[in-house]
Amino acid sequence: TAASQPKRADRSKVYMADLESTLHYSLRVEATRAAVLSGAQLAAFKCYVAMLVKYFPGRPCVQTYLRSLDGWLKNWTEPELPRSTLKEAMKNNRDASHPAVLPTNVTWVGCQGSEPHFRGYPCGLWTVFHLLTVQAAQNGPDKELPLEVLNTMRCYVRHFFGCRECAQHFEAMAAESMDQVAGREEAVFWLWSHHNEVNARLAGGDTEDPKFPKLQWPPPDMCPQCHKEERGVHAWDEPAVLTFLKAYFAPANIYPDYAE
Ligand code: FAD
Repeated sequence: TAASQPKRADRSKVYMADLESTLHYSLRVEATRAAVLSGAQLAAFKCYVAMLVKYFPGRPCVQTYLRSLDGWLKNWTEPELPRSTLKEAMKNNRDASHPAVLPTNVTWVGCQGSEPHFRGYPCGLWTVFHLLTVQAAQNGPDKELPLEVLNTMRCYVRHFFGCRECAQHFEAMAAESMDQVAGREEAVFWLWSHHNEVNARLAGGDTEDPKFPKLQWPPPDMCPQCHKEERGVHAWDEPAVLTFLKAYFAPANIYPDYAE
């Protein structure tokens, strides 16, 4: 029926529904599995929220939500934060003159899989982090804190990402080369190229949605100018890739509607 058949998403767009579903799930479900947050885990959570405030291009009510949560966390100076207290602090506030609302429903559009166990949240998390590296490259001085977003992501994945095997794989990649990233545009490239490494490793495996095969991204039909040949061997045109990533993960390419 029409109700159970989600509309086909447009691959060339980013959907706000995916981003907000990801934030809701990561903040209110995944990061709050432990009964108490403390130490490095609490620091990672605070750091994640502070980074979202800086770079997440959300709707006004979501930005207000993130700012108010960040303010609340900065006031929490005790070493332990019980989950029940945090969950209370993460509730929406619709009554204020500036509503602070992060929707509590999970709706996948661009990240909708052909079966419920495919895609969804891990797809959303990649999308959020690509978006954040691009926003940080557009809005911050290039040589200052080039690893601001990547380090926060690395901490988030290490402490909270529910797929523990994924977290180990990611940590191994980060340990190998993340420290060599010298600028914010390089950080955008690092995440893009390592995501492609993951795509290559997972292609054809049993976590691959047959309707969404793992590709080296963006494929030629999305970005012909990103691809070139050098002596008969495929190569990326890196300036074209950067231009593409900046346009794809731009606020103007985020669609507020749920599908076309
Ligand atoms: P995803 O790979 O999730 O990509 C989401 C969207 O991002 C794509 O639809 C596309 O629009 C875009 N995209 C794709 N490639 C790129 C790129 N290179 N640069 C920018 N944008 C891109 N699964 C495992 O089975 N084993 C693992 O070890 C593993 N490690 C993971 C580590 C992390 C940090 C994360 C977030 C996920 C990991 N996963 C792992 C899950 C896996 O990578 C996919 O997220 C999942 O299989 C869903 O795939 P997908 O087809 O929706 O596309």
